[in-house]
Amino acid sequence: MAAPYRLDDDSVVVIIGSGAGGGTLGNELAQKGIDVVILEAGARIEYEDFINDEWDSFAQLAWLDHRTTGGGWRVSKDFPNLPAWIVKAVGGTTTHWAGASLRFQEHEFKALSTYGKVEGANLLDWPITLAELEPYYAKAEDKMGVTRTHGIEGLPGNNNFKVFKAGADKLGYEKCHTGRMAINSAERDDRMSCQQTGFCFQGCKWGAKWSTLYTEIPKGEATGRLEVRPKSHVVRIEHNDDGKVTNVVYADKDGKLQSQKARIVCVAGNSIESPRLLLNSASAKFPDGLANSSGQVGKNYMRHTTGSVYAVFEKPVHFYRGTTMAGIIQDEAHHDPQRGFVGGYEMETLALGVPFMAAFLDPGGWGRSFASAMDGYANTAGLWIVGEDMPQEQNAVKLHATLKDQYGMPIPDVWFTDHANDVAMRNHAYRQGQALYEAVGAIRTFPTPPYPSTHNLGTNRMSEKAEDGVVNKWGQTHDIKNLFISDGSQFTTGAAENPTLTIVTLAIRQADNIAEQMTAGTI
Ligand SMILES: Cc1cc2nc3c(=O)[nH]c(=O)nc-3n(C[C@H](O)[C@H](O)[C@H](O)COP(=O)(O)OP(=O)(O)OC[C@H]3O[C@@H](n4cnc5c(N)ncnc54)[C@H](O)[C@@H]3O)c2cc1C
Ligand code: SF4
Repeated sequence: MAAPYRLDDDSVVVIIGSGAGGGTLGNELAQKGIDVVILEAGARIEYEDFINDEWDSFAQLAWLDHRTTGGGWRVSKDFPNLPAWIVKAVGGTTTHWAGASLRFQEHEFKALSTYGKVEGANLLDWPITLAELEPYYAKAEDKMGVTRTHGIEGLPGNNNFKVFKAGADKLGYEKCHTGRMAINSAERDDRMSCQQTGFCFQGCKWGAKWSTLYTEIPKGEATGRLEVRPKSHVVRIEHNDDGKVTNVVYADKDGKLQSQKARIVCVAGNSIESPRLLLNSASAKFPDGLANSSGQVGKNYMRHTTGSVYAVFEKPVHFYRGTTMAGIIQDEAHHDPQRGFVGGYEMETLALGVPFMAAFLDPGGWGRSFASAMDGYANTAGLWIVGEDMPQEQNAVKLHATLKDQYGMPIPDVWFTDHANDVAMRNHAYRQGQALYEAVGAIRTFPTPPYPSTHNLGTNRMSEKAEDGVVNKWGQTHDIKNLFISDGSQFTTGAAENPTLTIVTLAIRQADNIAEQMTAGTI
């Protein structure tokens, strides 16, 4: 049967969420002739309607449903109702993302074996290796058009990159270039090349940056096997007496509850909504939530060890011109406990517009130091730190005890506290970032605290043994055979690299596995 599908069609694969994981999986399955319905909570906003203005774009695309926070992280003080900066729209956060696309390193799949036991951390090895993922990484890079792979040229360096590179050279860093970016450096895949407009975080109006919104989804739809239903907010997943999932209940565009039957359900709502949905689907048979026999659903929430360093120079840099993040230093990404922490971090160029700079530089701050930094905006350069944070059980997405959303479901309460390893890594990175800019004449440098999480990981983690995690090496839940997790929540550990390339890679691999199991009749 071809799209659109009936609500009582129990032969379809239902995917919840249309971002990096869900949008990719939907297309991959449709290309194999499998019938797919994607239920997406957000609206469908085509790229020509994106807004090149930071707050207006945020209002247009961000996930703004009520959330609360707790724990020791500064975000819970500075942005108590905004733990994460993610998107509610067709294409998910791939509309907002910057495009940095890096493979994980081999040892990062073996965090427990490589780092050993780290007190307070819930480390575990992934049940897969880099070698197993390599062919799928190659497919993902080709699909996304990642620069410096498959013979694709790197992007040109903007002024922010030139300052960054000069500082890197002074510090003796050797692995610095304009990055592996899922942004077209030349026309490719019927999409334009980057126009250097500098609004990557607001959605690329040119379609030069890869997003499932205008790559995977229309390609899947063209097969006639993929139906995307925008403004369809899933509230729970239901199951039969055998414990197999059977249907998904969602609020449609008019807020009316509908039930879509399914042969298989794949959850790809990003790492806050995905575990929340499993927890909110608790039943008499599964009183702690779906797929939660290990008690690990919602636990081990990771968000990468982040922070930024901005520096003001005597002369203009105009760092807001050109790509937001095309510049990387990978010399600190390796594991070297001599530095006082396990794991590593990347440094990546980053520019913010004036409105976001004012919000993030020193949240809630005012006074001479803050005002003079804003005065130096045109002369500012900036970089972002992204490093491996430690999974910890108490860092968790929980259901709020009393507050409910517009559909009567408990809202997520997101708890996070830095591990001592995260703090040591961030301080090291701040020092290196400041040294880099001071080496090329910075007048002042500003280590800046992390802002709401853009990388949300780990809350339905992958494990060899059912008692250690939620899903197996294919993203299939240990407890329920026809229930899969298809987003960053399946990450066992976070690694130092930006996560999306790995989310897409896992989705391509998962599609092969689902197709095989459907043919074999095991699901
Ligand atoms: C500003 C910014 C910059 C970034 N830059 C980079 C980068 O350079 N490199 C990188 O690797 N990553 C980057 N990221 C992170 C990247 O965007 C995410 O890691 C990635 O999109 C996550 O994929 P996902 O499939 O897990 O979730 P998403 O892409 O967020 O998709 C989840 C989708 O599920 C939908 N959904 C959620 N709950 C429900 C529900 N109950 N019912 C129906 N639909 C639901 C949401 O509306 C959303 O559309 C960036 C993120 C931001 C915000
Ligand atoms: S800088 Fe390039 S990738 Fe970024 S929004 Fe502009 S055209 Fe798109």
